[in-house]
Amino acid sequence: MTFTTGKFNAAVTPLYDNHGRPLTYLRLAVTDRCNLRCFYCMPEEGIRYLPKKDLLTFEEIERLITLLASLGVSKIRLTGGEPFVRHDLMDLMQRITEIPGIKDLHLTTNGVLTAPHVGALKKMGIASVNLSLDTLDRERFRVITRRDEFEPVMNTLNLLLEHDIAVKINAVVMEGKNIDDIVPLIELTRNQRVEVRFIEEMPFNGEGNHYPTLHWTYTRILDYIKSHYPNLVKLPDPQHSTAYTYSIPGHLGNLGIIAAFSRTFCGTCNRLRITAQGTLKTCLYDDGALDLRALLRADHSDDYIKQQLHTAFQHRAKDGFEAEQRRKNHLPVSESMSTIGG
Ligand code: SAM
Repeated sequence: MTFTTGKFNAAVTPLYDNHGRPLTYLRLAVTDRCNLRCFYCMPEEGIRYLPKKDLLTFEEIERLITLLASLGVSKIRLTGGEPFVRHDLMDLMQRITEIPGIKDLHLTTNGVLTAPHVGALKKMGIASVNLSLDTLDRERFRVITRRDEFEPVMNTLNLLLEHDIAVKINAVVMEGKNIDDIVPLIELTRNQRVEVRFIEEMPFNGEGNHYPTLHWTYTRILDYIKSHYPNLVKLPDPQHSTAYTYSIPGHLGNLGIIAAFSRTFCGTCNRLRITAQGTLKTCLYDDGALDLRALLRADHSDDYIKQQLHTAFQHRAKDGFEAEQRRKNHLPVSESMSTIGG
């Protein structure tokens, strides 16, 4: 959906990075806090959340998005942590829809607190909601997320579908945890217009002490799906998509596989990230390209900040492997996705 209610005006020609990729999509973490404790994302205890003063304020977020929109960013995804843990999230979202140049606003949520807002999301013209759901089994949900919140999440899913909001379900595929859920999750696509995406597990688990072996690569996930659905059809992948997309004849929805750890999609990556504390990342695997919060709080002009952004865009790593190698401490990635903004 393209916003027509706001001050949306003519599209800005996007900026290109040093590898000729346009930068048009921002994923912004509004908080590092989460109400679940998915074991692949966060440790159960001992998490040190950012003090509130370290989070970007809504005014700072609005200013940054306005600046980025003037440089050609037109698609925004709010994520976290869990975005709905941040008070007044809906106000921020409404304000973002009114920023000139922003065409699409998306949201990634775990669905625990989302249901009461589904009507308002629809009214605001949300382009899509990504719902994280690794299993359809209540007990497995409790084990994976370390919280007993399966019912509110399913309620959110049903409401999103009832309101005809585009929904993508994100399921991380994990050996010994949810392999038996792959087929039931795909079965959701039989009668519902939903896209179910299976994601390779990445080492962003906040643990710092182990780099998991990837048992379920995208090719293994694909082989497994094909063994259950031999008539799987490959669909053309949308431009800049991170997912390989497929359909099953007769199913209303479709499915995708995201090679998040194998990093096969970097060549067309159009994404920027801003963490909850205002660090710009030009690759998920880098350790920060620019401290935007410091720039904002030092009272620099819009032009100065845009110049700094421009410079960061011109030093972007070619792919996630180069970004990881360039990290200052040369240690492998281990931070939690909740601090980065997944
Ligand atoms: N709280 C929101 C949610 O649950 O959707 C947004 C933040 S969450 C960090 C965003 C996405 O990152 C989720 O779909 C989650 O499954 C994914 N994620 C987190 N840790 C991951 C990991 N180690 N490997 C792959 N995906 C991960």
